Amino acid sequence: MKVKLEELRATAITAIAAAKNDDELYEIERSFTGRKGQLTALLKGLKDLSNEDKRIVGPLANKIKDDLQIEVGKRSAELKKEAFDAMSGAFFDASLPGNRPVVGRLHPITKFIQEIEDTFLSLNFDIAEGPEVEDDYHNFTALNIPEDHPARDMQDTLWAKNIPYLLRTHTSPVQIRYMESHKPPIRVVCPGRVYRKDDVDATHSPMFHQFEGLMIDKTTNLAHLKGILTVALRRLIHPDLELRFRSSYFPFVEPGMEVDVTCVMCNGDGCHVCKRSGWIEMLGCGMVHPNVMKSVGLDPQEYQGFAFGAGIERLLMIKFQINDIRLFFENDPRFLEQFPQI
Ligand SMILES: [Zn+2]
Repeated sequence: MKVKLEELRATAITAIAAAKNDDELYEIERSFTGRKGQLTALLKGLKDLSNEDKRIVGPLANKIKDDLQIEVGKRSAELKKEAFDAMSGAFFDASLPGNRPVVGRLHPITKFIQEIEDTFLSLNFDIAEGPEVEDDYHNFTALNIPEDHPARDMQDTLWAKNIPYLLRTHTSPVQIRYMESHKPPIRVVCPGRVYRKDDVDATHSPMFHQFEGLMIDKTTNLAHLKGILTVALRRLIHPDLELRFRSSYFPFVEPGMEVDVTCVMCNGDGCHVCKRSGWIEMLGCGMVHPNVMKSVGLDPQEYQGFAFGAGIERLLMIKFQINDIRLFFENDPRFLEQFPQI
């Protein structure tokens, strides 16, 4: 048996040295030391040997196995070197220009969310996130949109089948969740994805991003809202931006307002984008409705505050004069590469 083993070692070493590539090398290794390999087959006879012989043959077989592995390693390294040598030499032209390494970048939406977070952190706001799969209570009822309220139709909702859950239609439920777990004074912004049952076109997408802002304290008022929004939007969109507040209706605020900003295309002079008005609609806001305060256990006689919510794609479209929301989700590098990365 000892002789057979030594013969097998010699055959294997010759075969390994003759291997022409890694695949061949692997096959050879398997044919000797694999589960159905020659060495394994030979060792099946071990049980018929005397104890004394077992003590000699056993360690020898293991030694051969180790040796063969070392040989395979050596041959593999040789093959790599041969392949490398074949590539360099005659075919290598040092004067050819190199390939510019591809550098990754943040998606403009991710980047803008970071800018929003930085801006509001510097204004002493907290950042919060909430679930994208929401229940009816947080998405509607707690926000003063009870069952059968016509405002439910303002947002076409994607409901789950057979269970009382939905994909949140706005980031406002995060306000509720935050107020349920934090006591005033509250200052928080909540960026995130939202979903609507909308067909895709140049200005609609069934998934888009919003950010929500909320500030609650005993004396928080509209002047604070105007101050915070002016500072934040000037930092995020354009330093010369002017804001105009128009009264509007959202069930979770009273009074409710829409904010227009000076058109960045014509600087307020009037152009086709702003329909000659000089103003562009930017976001919705207002003073938090007393019913919303009550739903999170706050006394509206004691506390007051404001909330605002804006579409992130919409802000980016205004800022960079982009005319189609679909561009954000098509992942075309020619589009994505145009955004500054600081
Ligand atoms: Zn304009």
